[in-house]
Amino acid sequence: MDYFKKIFSGIYNLLLGLKTTLKYLPGRSVTIQYPKQRWTMPERSRGIVVLLSNPETGELNCTACLLCQKACPVAAITITQAKNPETKKRYPKKFEINTLICCFCGLCEEACNFDAIKMTGKYEFATFDKQSLILGKERLQELGRDVKYEPKRKRPAVKSAADKSTSQEDKQ
Ligand code: SF4
Ligand code: SF4
Repeated sequence: MDYFKKIFSGIYNLLLGLKTTLKYLPGRSVTIQYPKQRWTMPERSRGIVVLLSNPETGELNCTACLLCQKACPVAAITITQAKNPETKKRYPKKFEINTLICCFCGLCEEACNFDAIKMTGKYEFATFDKQSLILGKERLQELGRDVKYEPKRKRPAVKSAADKSTSQEDKQ
């Protein structure tokens, strides 16, 4: 008797599973055939961080101001400043992002006033070599080449301490 009960239970559970399969069969598929198909990531998605270049000159927008390095909560950014002796402009001699510890918070992009660093929709960076996830300047620039360059909205000018004290005196 127990034997037949088990057979019946097995058939019942099989049909129950098939019922669920049949229920979703005619509907729209919610999965894709990765890697043949890929999602188009939303504009504001937080994937890998890249460096942006000026599309005309091809040079990095980064001025090595270190703001992003200071804003990074996990110290994933390492920058070494250098100065061009001819133009007297600062540039990053070394710019490294350790993707292994990056928490994709976006604070580096927020801190940058030069549209030089950006979070992208790029999410495919699985590798067997952990070291390759510490991205250097050239790699970061290369990854940012096809990223749309859109200057941020103009930020309101930050008042200096001297300006503030003048405006306070005016009020009195
Ligand atoms: S990426 Fe932006 S915030 Fe970071 S050092 Fe370069 S200019 Fe400064
Ligand atoms: S996204 Fe956040 S954690 Fe990653 S490098 Fe930028 S500030 Fe650091």
